[in-house]
Amino acid sequence: MMYCPFCSALDTKVIDSRLIREGNQIRRRRECPDCKERFTTYEVAELTLPRIIKRDGRRAPFSEEKLRAGVLRALEKRPVSVEQVETAIARIVRKGMTAGEREIPSSQIGEWVMEELYQLDPVAYVRFASVYRCFDIDEFHREISRLTKHVKSKSTHTRK
Ligand SMILES: [Zn+2]
Repeated sequence: MMYCPFCSALDTKVIDSRLIREGNQIRRRRECPDCKERFTTYEVAELTLPRIIKRDGRRAPFSEEKLRAGVLRALEKRPVSVEQVETAIARIVRKGMTAGEREIPSSQIGEWVMEELYQLDPVAYVRFASVYRCFDIDEFHREISRLTKHVKSKSTHTRK
């Protein structure tokens, strides 16, 4: 519902709507049924990045650079291409945008990073998770043997 800006009639009629700017905006032509004036409205999806709630409760802006730095540190000297890394980062950023929250805990970002690393590279996943979740040494070994099994069963599967 949209008031008429000319006569303040309570509702106006959409007579045309089209997507513009690669589909990021909708332009609508409207007409007032009372005074017959026509006008245009633009609709844009609100896709802003949420703020991050740090562990100590302080807030910080969502930083794609910090995210990339963390992911790259975990992937140091691992056989993963720049393209794969960028795709993973883009997915995490999109999750942040579509979460629909103004603020999200840093632990949520950490979970998303772990999901991506789990798919990309088991070693990077364990590196990141061990720092992030502060694995104790027993947990660390359990996770490694679990992943080794996972990778082995994957490779036997692809060999068939
Ligand atoms: Zn009107």
